[in-house]
Amino acid sequence: MAAGIRLYVDGALGEGALVAATADQAHYLGRVMRLGVGDPVLLFNGRDGEWRAEIARMDKRAAEMIIREKTRDQSESPGPWLAFAPVKKTGTDFIVQKATELGASRLLPVVTANTQTGRTNTERLRAQAVEAAEQCERLSVPDVSDMIDLDALLADWPRDRPLFVLDETGGGASLAAVAGTAGAAVGFLVGPEGGFQARELDRFAKLPFITPVTLGPRILRAETACLAALAVWQAVVGDWT
Ligand code: SAH
Repeated sequence: MAAGIRLYVDGALGEGALVAATADQAHYLGRVMRLGVGDPVLLFNGRDGEWRAEIARMDKRAAEMIIREKTRDQSESPGPWLAFAPVKKTGTDFIVQKATELGASRLLPVVTANTQTGRTNTERLRAQAVEAAEQCERLSVPDVSDMIDLDALLADWPRDRPLFVLDETGGGASLAAVAGTAGAAVGFLVGPEGGFQARELDRFAKLPFITPVTLGPRILRAETACLAALAVWQAVVGDWT
């Protein structure tokens, strides 16, 4: 049980290094998991692989871990980017957690014409991503961007990264059929509950780096569309192959 605890830390990892737990991590280790000095934990930071550590010091508010040995090298192919119109708070949390489990490497909340949510709490979303990465044995945490509007997303989008727009009007190609044509560095854009407006879809059609895609005849919730797109991609070209 204890060996399964994985914590994301900011600092560098290496044999013999001492790592201070954050206050939340100390609370989790001591109060929630009831661990104490000598108990094992796994640490990762998104750069240096995964390391086995032991709790070296533990008191009411603080804990310190000493790193013993490397358990895994940092060897992860970076997954797709996911741009999505945020939905209600719990829906957005859900998207962030599940997209992390499904291997997304960057999460970009984006305001489209029909987006209802005007604000996202980046720190909160980042915490969700960290927790999901700890739980699912990833060696990295996806970057979570501050919310931007669609104009800025399109203006800043790297032109060499194909962007699949999930088009609920059925105008696009089958994602499974086109996923393999684009290389590994891709992105997805999923619209809000109200869908994309016709003028947004017209605009996408004019941009060479965008390919509209469909996920079939049923209208999916935005949350479902995010997960389905990432799952199809992982199964066809990603690390499920
Ligand atoms: N209100 C819209 C549906 C929006 S669904 C309507 O009634 O038409 C939210 C988002 O999920 C869409 O903008 C799209 O990006 C994605 N989506 C849902 N179903 C989809 C499908 N079958 N194919 C592709 N994308 C889909």
